[in-house]
Amino acid sequence: MRVFSLSLQKIISMPRRRQPRKIVAPPKFREYRPYGHQGESTGTVELLYEEYESIKLADYDGLSHHQACVLMGISRPTFARIYESARRKIAQALVETKKIKSVFGNVYFDRNWYKCTKCHNLFTLPDSIHERLCPMCKSNKIEFINSNQ
Ligand SMILES: [Zn+2]
Repeated sequence: MRVFSLSLQKIISMPRRRQPRKIVAPPKFREYRPYGHQGESTGTVELLYEEYESIKLADYDGLSHHQACVLMGISRPTFARIYESARRKIAQALVETKKIKSVFGNVYFDRNWYKCTKCHNLFTLPDSIHERLCPMCKSNKIEFINSNQ
């Protein structure tokens, strides 16, 4: 019995392997900053890409949680957890005048996204295009962002 409870304890304490969440596009900002408040900003909250996506799908696109969790390839309880976390972080940033920084989380994109390191434009390119240039400024200084930045 003791052996059993030890191994159970070990299983419980093992980090849970998280399923990556599918998102359509990365946020178009790296950081939001409070403006017009008294004193210095009091810190930063890190909003994960999947948290941003949950807010976008549910509150901006007006999808139900069921539709949103299907799009992100996750269960409804997982979606609810991510969405709740996103709302708490955004509320904290608004009330405590913190910056909101977008942070790559546990995600993958439904297509290939690139970032121009010159003008910071985010864009996709079809696989048929072999010349990898920023469509905005024509710079070839672009980076693939489908992984941790
Ligand atoms: Zn560019």
